[in-house]
Amino acid sequence: MGEELKEKLFLDNSSGWKNMDNNQKQKIFDFSNNYMEFLNKSKTEREFIKSAKKLADENGFTDINNKTELKAGDKIYFINRDKSMYLAIIGTEDIEKNGMHIIGSHVDSPRLDLKPNPLQEDGGFAYFKTHYYGGIKKYQWTTIPLSIHGVVVKPNGEKIEINVGENDAEPIFTITDLLPHLAQSQMEKKLKEGIDGEDLKLLIGSIPFDDDKIQEKVKLNILNILNQKYGIKEIDLTSAELELVPAFKARTLGFDESMVAGYGQDDKVCAYTSLVAMMSLENVKNTAICILSDKEEIGSMGNTGMESHMFDFFVSEVINKMGINKPNLLDKIFCYSKMLSSDVDAGFDPIYASVSDTLNAGYLGKGIALNKYTGVRGKSGASDANAEFVAWVRNILETNNIKYQITELGKVDIGGGGTIAYILANKGVDVIDCGVPVLSMHAPYEVTSKFDIYNAFEAYKAFWIAD
Ligand code: MN
Ligand code: MN
Repeated sequence: MGEELKEKLFLDNSSGWKNMDNNQKQKIFDFSNNYMEFLNKSKTEREFIKSAKKLADENGFTDINNKTELKAGDKIYFINRDKSMYLAIIGTEDIEKNGMHIIGSHVDSPRLDLKPNPLQEDGGFAYFKTHYYGGIKKYQWTTIPLSIHGVVVKPNGEKIEINVGENDAEPIFTITDLLPHLAQSQMEKKLKEGIDGEDLKLLIGSIPFDDDKIQEKVKLNILNILNQKYGIKEIDLTSAELELVPAFKARTLGFDESMVAGYGQDDKVCAYTSLVAMMSLENVKNTAICILSDKEEIGSMGNTGMESHMFDFFVSEVINKMGINKPNLLDKIFCYSKMLSSDVDAGFDPIYASVSDTLNAGYLGKGIALNKYTGVRGKSGASDANAEFVAWVRNILETNNIKYQITELGKVDIGGGGTIAYILANKGVDVIDCGVPVLSMHAPYEVTSKFDIYNAFEAYKAFWIAD
């Protein structure tokens, strides 16, 4: 009797892998293979947007700038400075009454950027000096293979794309660390002070230019190579965006092949699953919007970040081209819109269990995690989703038999974080955070569950086609 009652009343938090048949498992594994392949070609925000554009073009989406008018069923996108992108499918329902269904993720990830004047010779080696981007544990970025991705733009507008270290035939780069034999005082330091930000210097060469009369021979030799290969001079590195990311590939993890290890899964796992979900849609009732934003990891500032007015501009263009715009319509549409802020959640890690409230943690393999709120301490800075909206989202997931968990980031007083949720909420949109749980978040190699990856795809799709 107790068993029956328990089954009826208790929240079900069983593993998503439980009782799974082989067909379903294969579907999940195949989907994850495509995801890893995409991830390997899309390690930076610029590369992700490039891959996303290609996918959108193949699936019948058009640049909104090439359209003069829009009607129900039209599939369009807008690319902002090659670093962020908004996609839309125009719905059959009245956008003024129903608003839009928005899913928003980010495609930037923690990394090391080159400084504006990066090239330095010291002690017979050439280095690129770096400035880290986003919240990293600096020690994790030493002694791993790194690749260089990005662009160098010349004053005449010529843009040179650089991508070195991904191909096995190409060299990689690394940041050295002290040998343990001589690290006595380094090892006494606090972990966060163990590696100084200024010491994150990328080792890029050691052969001196053959001329005894000149200084900085190794630096000259490197510049000579860069000049021959890319046609650039030292000053051209000042108008460049060159990012260092781990050179290793996303791989299947575990004997049971249940997980994915890869760089930049925060938040490319949510960006990819929402993008692919949008590609699978044909007709939608409510206008479906997919946001792939930039700069989330440094506070969403700047004109490619979510804080900028670029998204408002995009939605204005949509309603202009639908021929329905009028004063205050943009505000009205936002107030009737619904959004999943699709960003990763902290997965429960038994090795570090003490930072989590086990009753409210997000678990790998238990489905998409909905964070009603984020923020720090007393919910400071949080966008706390309204109970009515949480119930509305639950209804979609439950009706479609999609597994989910409602979670918090960690113990109350331990720390916290945020996403782009509050930015859209401030415009009047109903928003909840909804993403894949991750282990080792912000590390060069992050871990997710294949079950959750496929589950996110299904959840995002269900949200877009919901009434
Ligand atoms: Mn994130
Ligand atoms: Mn992050």
